[in-house]
Amino acid sequence: MAQQQDAQTRALARARAHGLSIVGRGAWKHGAPFVVVGSASEPGRFHLVTIYPGRLACDCPARALCMHRALAHEDLESAQAKASTSQPLAALSVLQRDVAPLYRDNRPFSIFKQ
Ligand SMILES: [Zn+2]
Repeated sequence: MAQQQDAQTRALARARAHGLSIVGRGAWKHGAPFVVVGSASEPGRFHLVTIYPGRLACDCPARALCMHRALAHEDLESAQAKASTSQPLAALSVLQRDVAPLYRDNRPFSIFKQ
C-alpha cells in the first residue's frame, strides 16, 4: 500500500516535470468517463485514461503506473475531497458536471481523427 502511494507520488512528479496535465474530459458511449492527458514522449499526442469503478485504465504502453493515470488519480482524489463524503460516486458526478459539450450532445467522436 505504502509502495503504491510512493509510485503514485513519483509518477506525479514525472508528470509535473514534463508539464503534463489533464486537457480534456469526456465519456465513452458505455458510460465510463475518461480524462485526456498529453503524451510526454510524443508531443501533440494524447492518452485517454478511462475511469472504471475502483480502477483506472490508460491506453499508453507503459506497464507500470504511468504519469497519465497518476494525474487522473490525483484529479479523482481532489474531486472526492470536494464532494460530500457519504457518496462514493460523488467524485464521478463532479467529473460529469464539467465535461465538454460533446459529452452532453452524446455524439460519438474521436480525438484521433481531426
Ligand atoms: Zn498512461
